[in-house]
Amino acid sequence: STVLVTGGTGFIAQHIIDRLLAKKYVVISTARSEAKYSPLLKSFQKKYPDAAVTYEIVADMTKDDAFDEVLKKHPEITYVLHTASPASLGYNLPLKDAYLTPAVNGTLNILKGIKKYAPQVTKVVITSSIVAMVQVGQDLSSTTINNTMWNPITWDQVENESDAYAASKTYAEKAARKFYEDEKPTYTLATVNPPLVVGPQVFDDLVPKELNSLNAMVNMVTQLPPSTEPQTFFPAISIDARDIAEFHVLAIENKKLADQRIAVAASQCIGQKFLNILNDNFPELDGKICKGDYASVDKLEEDLCPKFDFDNTLEMVGGYDFIPLETSVIDLFKQYFAKYG
Ligand code: NDP
Repeated sequence: STVLVTGGTGFIAQHIIDRLLAKKYVVISTARSEAKYSPLLKSFQKKYPDAAVTYEIVADMTKDDAFDEVLKKHPEITYVLHTASPASLGYNLPLKDAYLTPAVNGTLNILKGIKKYAPQVTKVVITSSIVAMVQVGQDLSSTTINNTMWNPITWDQVENESDAYAASKTYAEKAARKFYEDEKPTYTLATVNPPLVVGPQVFDDLVPKELNSLNAMVNMVTQLPPSTEPQTFFPAISIDARDIAEFHVLAIENKKLADQRIAVAASQCIGQKFLNILNDNFPELDGKICKGDYASVDKLEEDLCPKFDFDNTLEMVGGYDFIPLETSVIDLFKQYFAKYG
C-alpha cells in the first residue's frame, strides 16, 4: 500500500516514515523545499535500498489547493498521515500566522483535497496532541487525562507562543472532526494525540543542534546551575518517538483504531527524572550538571505530574510494551553528545 505522510521533514514524521519503510509500505511524503528533504531522502534510500520513498514539495499548505497536485499525481495513495503543523517555538511571525492558520488550514486542505481528488483513500490519520486535550503548563497534578477531554482554550485567551501552539492544535483537531461530520467523506478519520515526545532522531548524522519540543527541554536540564533542591519543572507525561510513530502505523493497520482519538503515554516525567537518568548513565557529566534531589523523584511525580488513563486505546491494540523513558533519554543523549560533544 502507498501512504502519504505530510510534513515528512519533521522529527516524528521521520520515525513514521522509517517504520513504514521497514514494513515495506510505499511512502510519498511532502516537504516545504527540496533543501529540507534531500538529505533525508538520501538517508532513507541508503538505509532501505529497495524501498520506494519519494518527496513532493508543498511550499505553502495554507493555500486552498495546497495538496491537490500531489493527490492528483498519485492516485495510488490509499492512506494519509497528516503530521505537518507548526511545532516549534520562536517563529518571527504574528501568532495567528505562525500557528493557527497553518495548523487549521493545513488540516482542512488535506481533508478537502482527499475528498475531491482521492476517493480511493480509505484511512486518514491526523497528528493532534495532548495539548488538544489539556492545557500543559497549568497545574494538572490532580487531573487524570483521558481521550475524551478537550482543552477549553480559545484563541482570544492566547498570550504567548505555547498558548498559540495549544490553541492551534485544539482548533485543528476540532476543525477536522467537524469537517468529517459535515462532509461525511468515504475515508475513516483518526487522530493520534501524543503526549510529550522524546527520543533520538532517526539518523545520527542529521541530528540538529537545536532539538525540538520535549527533547529541547530535556537538553535544557543539562544547562541548569548546580542545586540540591528537587527539580520540579515541567511535570508532564511522555512517550518515545519510535512508539508514537508505531501508533501512527497501527492507526492504519488496526481496524479498531480507524475512527479513534488515539492517546497513549509511556510514563510521567519531570525535570528531576531527566537529571537522575543523566546522572545515572553519563558519568562524564559528573560535576558538570545539576543533581537536584535524587531521592525526591517518585514523590515529585506523584505530587505534580498528571495521571493518565489511556486503557481504551491499549485494549484495542491488545496491550503495548512501551520504550521506557530511561531508554529514550539515554538514546537521545548518546546520539546528541556523539555529534555535539
Ligand atoms: P517538527 O517541528 O520536527 O515537525 C513539524 C513538521 O511540520 C515539519 O515537517 C515541518 O516542516 C512541518 N511544518 C511546520 N510548520 C509548517 C507550516 N507552516 N507549513 C507546512 N509545514 C509545516 O515537530 P514534531 O515532529 O515534533 O511534530 C510533528 C507533529 O506532532 C505536529 O503535528 C505536532 O504538533 C505533533 N506533536 C508533537 C509533539 C512533540 O512532543 N514533539 C507532541 C504532540 C504532538 P519544516 O521541516 O519545513 O519546518
